[in-house]
Amino acid sequence: MSDIRAGDLVECIDDTPNRPESQIMPDLGAIYTVTNIRAVGDGASVRLKELTPSCHLGGVCACGDCGWDAGRFRKVYRPNGEFIASLFCDVPDRVEAPELVD
Ligand SMILES: [Zn+2]
Repeated sequence: MSDIRAGDLVECIDDTPNRPESQIMPDLGAIYTVTNIRAVGDGASVRLKELTPSCHLGGVCACGDCGWDAGRFRKVYRPNGEFIASLFCDVPDRVEAPELVD
């Protein structure tokens, strides 16, 4: 299941249309803002703030049900307040946790 949530920044990692009617596709490597994500079948359908998908009814989506597969995107982790704050926290001299080895 995707870890993408509404409000996340995502990078397009797959811009190849699955169907010929998918004329509107995100650009590979471009960054978008997720406005909505919902489960569809085994995956999830993503809507973007910057781009409106083509519709299964034809044309630009007005029905609101269309979207792109979440697998086309990966979440972009941006520095947030928590991250900035962590830079100024006291760093322990020694890390007690063992390394995780696959
Ligand atoms: Zn639609």
